[in-house]
Amino acid sequence: DIFPGDLSDNPMQRNTPKVLFASAKPAGFDGPKLIAFNQTLSEEIGLGPYEEKDLDFLVGNNLPDNVKTYATAYAGHQFGNWAGQLGDGRAILAGEIINKHGKKTEIQWKGAGATPYSRHADGRAVLRSSVREYLMSEAMFHLGVPTTRALSLAFTGEDVVRDIMYSGNPQLEKGAVVVRTAESFLRFGHFELMSAQREYDTLQDLVDFTIDNYYREIKADGIQKYKEFFENICTRTADLMTEWFRVGFVHGVMNTDNMSVLGLTIDYGPYSMMDEYDLNFTPNTTDLPGRRYAFGKQGQISQWNLWQLANSLHPLIKDEKFLEDTLNHYGTYFWKAHDEMLCKKFGFDELRESDEEFFTNWQGLMQELQLDYTLFFNQLEKLNPESDMKSLFENVSYVILSDQRVRKLEDFAKKYEERLLSNTISRETSLLLMKQSNPKFTLRNYLLYECIEEINIGNTEMLEKLTRALENPYEELYPEYSVKRPAAYDDTAGCSTLS
Ligand code: AMP
Ligand code: MG
Ligand code: MG
Repeated sequence: DIFPGDLSDNPMQRNTPKVLFASAKPAGFDGPKLIAFNQTLSEEIGLGPYEEKDLDFLVGNNLPDNVKTYATAYAGHQFGNWAGQLGDGRAILAGEIINKHGKKTEIQWKGAGATPYSRHADGRAVLRSSVREYLMSEAMFHLGVPTTRALSLAFTGEDVVRDIMYSGNPQLEKGAVVVRTAESFLRFGHFELMSAQREYDTLQDLVDFTIDNYYREIKADGIQKYKEFFENICTRTADLMTEWFRVGFVHGVMNTDNMSVLGLTIDYGPYSMMDEYDLNFTPNTTDLPGRRYAFGKQGQISQWNLWQLANSLHPLIKDEKFLEDTLNHYGTYFWKAHDEMLCKKFGFDELRESDEEFFTNWQGLMQELQLDYTLFFNQLEKLNPESDMKSLFENVSYVILSDQRVRKLEDFAKKYEERLLSNTISRETSLLLMKQSNPKFTLRNYLLYECIEEINIGNTEMLEKLTRALENPYEELYPEYSVKRPAAYDDTAGCSTLS
């Protein structure tokens, strides 16, 4: 059943053929309060500096009549199952702004109120999840990873009911709105919805629109145009996955409605940066025991998601062999990009066949010694033939470095130094590659957790400090942040999926 498509008996389906959106108005909030504003982004997209009167706009209050706001309709596969129509349940588009260079940016409120696609939910967002989206999307941007961005974070002044422990004991949490931006928020799920409802004309319009606006590099016509469109999405997605692996990002909910057709990181929910290296790590507590969205599976899962997109585009492309070949090629392309990325992290000149074995051994070492992913590479830059392994990696491991474990590190270091010696690039160039590929600061989950606690009691110093740190991730601005996660926290502190 590779190319199904008839899901028209789904009760959730929208009933407005040819139309992919519905007008939606922000709820309006009485006592909004600004928590953070992203001045640099504001200037970049063509909005000016922040003035107090702007706060109303940032939570969607008192909109001028000429601003037509709307929510789009998309569907998706959640945890491997077709889930029908899903959203936009709590994102409202304010439209598009064009800066002085002609660059267009879409602006959305997230959490500003229910839309016609909210199903039974409230369209609200809590402070916790809003801080997580605001900070991490900016952290990813400064790491150099394609992502949606965040312009502002504000309290709505309204409380929202959530039961984060599924205990049947709901709590009130402070409501918040994030204004987020992207070149486009189009997801795989938008295409899936059209295809599942057999609205192939609208599907074609949507694909043409997407190509005309965001894939201008495609010059072909007819079916070839749609083929190149799919190939391009595959490439962008593989490149994005490689970047997630580079920085140690685990998305946590890679449902097809959370996959951008532009290859951006989108929908910051129960994500986490990885502390100790673990291919099986998932920050999503509802993703157990299957661990579908674990760190090490993100390559495979993105391919599965692209498979669903291929199904959706099949009515336009009508060439199963092409789609299958492209999807198979995806695996090859992704692993090559992934391994080349690892080469840079290690300061290797180029990918060699023997590197595969080196990487596999290294993964085993990381996993067994529970070495911190970020700190490991920072320390590796300091390695020299005289280094004492125990002192170099002591503060990087989450287990005690017994003599036996130290010997494993020594064996690894020996092989690593041999490989470096065979480099055809200078040691300086090799170190430069490492410094550019290995962040010194990552926004660890426990830092977010502490920051949210602080904001909850009215303190924003930590938010400001984290903002400076995440804007300069390849420097060590604050040595206290370049350490492993304190023992008081486990690896999923504060990663609630209910947001
Ligand atoms: P997510 O797992 O965060 O991608 O959520 C799946 C879908 O559920 C989203 O696309 C939203 O449309 C919808 N959703 C999540 N939270 C809310 C909410 N508080 N109100 C309305 N819709 C929501
Ligand atoms: Mg989502
Ligand atoms: Mg979400």
